[in-house]
Amino acid sequence: MSDTRHTRVLIIGSGPAGYTAGVYASRAMLEPILVQGIEPGGQLTTTTDVENYPGFTEVQGPDLMIKMQEHAAAMGCDIVGDIITELDTSSRPFVAKGDSGTTYTADAVILCTGARAKWLGLETEEAFKGFGVSACATCDGFFYRGQEIVVVGGGNTAVEEALFLTNFASKVTLIHRRDELRAEKILQDRLFKNPKIETMWFNTLEEVVGTDNPKGVEAVRVRNVKTDEITEIPCKGVFIAIGHAPASELVKDTLETHNGGYVKVEPGSTRTSIPGVFAAGDLTDHIYRQAVTSAGMGCMAALDAEKFLAEQEG
Ligand code: FAD
Ligand code: NAP
Repeated sequence: MSDTRHTRVLIIGSGPAGYTAGVYASRAMLEPILVQGIEPGGQLTTTTDVENYPGFTEVQGPDLMIKMQEHAAAMGCDIVGDIITELDTSSRPFVAKGDSGTTYTADAVILCTGARAKWLGLETEEAFKGFGVSACATCDGFFYRGQEIVVVGGGNTAVEEALFLTNFASKVTLIHRRDELRAEKILQDRLFKNPKIETMWFNTLEEVVGTDNPKGVEAVRVRNVKTDEITEIPCKGVFIAIGHAPASELVKDTLETHNGGYVKVEPGSTRTSIPGVFAAGDLTDHIYRQAVTSAGMGCMAALDAEKFLAEQEG
């Protein structure tokens, strides 16, 4: 059944930015609607230990996000399980179409759609996605108990995934295209001390090798970027951890973006190129991309939206 719901503030996304915007917009009596999207709780629901969110020496990512959801709901935020498929920012009020059939109209919109895992774009990576190739160790690591695993990447995600996967795997090989990691020093330290992890520098993944019946991975072929030498590494699981791209599909043709699709905001604010549309979190941020910075921007967006509405209405 299709229906239309109006709100003063529509928050799109349920990561740290979205829920924080929900807390602040609710406390400002703006009666926001927050649409959760395909991944309620956002990226942190795909990880285990979070050790750098202030107030929590250690917390599981999914638990932290449930607390944020409960906090936003307790302040009065209307949290809806839906996905926005279209956003029309040319009209007033703004019009957002939900996958459920609901149409949302809003006087202001806060975009918090975050980022998604990047893939290498290899044919064989695509062919074995879900059959040995994954971008989420928390989701799929369990399937590789006692097996050998390969992780590709050199940032925090790759190192954390490699460490986490040692809980299951007999051996983890981290393949990186350089000989220097981007990951925080504390994580690098843990990686280098872990006897189950081997690093392979200056190598890139060329091909995933597997069988069709039953469908599964048997090995990867990697290429040394200096010598072009190809090495085959036997493994049952391949985890691609090469970063994330902003989820800006809804607005890529309407809002100004930069640095590969990140929504551009005025420095020191969350104002986008369209008045009344605000953006927060990883969607706007190619540098910090942390839960706490996203939450901070969610707060800013709700305050910016409140000011915008007050000016419109006053
Ligand atoms: P996200 O968390 O990306 O959430 C985006 C939200 O938008 C999702 O709820 C999604 O469903 C929703 N959405 C997208 N499209 C639509 C749509 N069309 N309609 C409706 N909703 C939509 N950071 C730390 O500070 N500490 C850590 O320890 C840490 N560990 C991490 C581990 C991993 C494996 C990963 C991937 C990231 C980690 N990060 C960590 C980074 C952190 O998760 C992100 O910086 C943070 O989640 C970004 O928050 P966000 O609210 O901007 O968006
Ligand atoms: P990232 O920091 O962008 O790192 C991506 C890694 O993948 C880099 O090492 C990069 O190599 C490599 N890479 C990229 N494209 C590649 C390709 N086509 N082929 C081979 N290698 C490729 O991404 P991330 O690790 O996902 O982290 C994203 C953000 O989330 C960061 O801000 C990070 O701090 C945050 N995060 C934080 C935590 C935490 O605080 N504990 C945990 C996870 C993530 P180069 O180094 O050569 O560019």
